[in-house]
Amino acid sequence: MTNSRILLVEDEPDIALVVTDLLVAQGHTVETAGTGTEGVRMATDVRFDLLILDVMLPGMDGFAVCRTMREQGFDGGVLMLTARSQVADRVQGLQIGADDYLAKPFDPNELLARVTALLRRVGKEQLTPVLRFQFGGVSVDFSKPSVTRNGVAVSLAAKEMQLLRCLIDHRGQVLTREWLLGQVWSQQRFITPRTVDVHVAWLRQKLEEEAQTPKHILTVRGEGYRFVG
Ligand code: CA
Repeated sequence: MTNSRILLVEDEPDIALVVTDLLVAQGHTVETAGTGTEGVRMATDVRFDLLILDVMLPGMDGFAVCRTMREQGFDGGVLMLTARSQVADRVQGLQIGADDYLAKPFDPNELLARVTALLRRVGKEQLTPVLRFQFGGVSVDFSKPSVTRNGVAVSLAAKEMQLLRCLIDHRGQVLTREWLLGQVWSQQRFITPRTVDVHVAWLRQKLEEEAQTPKHILTVRGEGYRFVG
């Protein structure tokens, strides 16, 4: 996806300039904010495809910006930048709705790769929705909706069907639990990333030949899930 709208919230002017130049050279439109409060205001006024948030900001930090925007229903991508590389920070960021995380100092190519992957993941025009899909012995018809395995009807709950559709529509891509939560359970409270794991386990039980060694609904260690048809 080219010419995406990106908001960079970064209080260090040198880094803001470097990142902006990199992204503009890729054809993106980039706006910058120097504080979290300003970033929230800008992202509330205008729809961005991607937020790049420095964690360490004066006043409202990047985590708070992310949480605030997700609470407001922002469904674009969120990439966190931080000088800290502790696992705890990464986990905290992912729990509040960040999609990805990049530790400073970062390689410009690494940043571009993450941005491109995120834009592809959130880009609605990149969706390749299908009405019917077959994998293994499973046939899915989303128009009815109905699922059969080896010719036998399989009963899926509504959320299982939505999750399966989401996985199939984004087949081949690594999907984080947080992103799947946003897609399938967006308006519901008291839902945690564990909810995704539970539903994935149910789908595997119903659809995989062997649930313990899935061939289609794959776990990507430390990242999330990936569907392979
Ligand atoms: Ca900073």
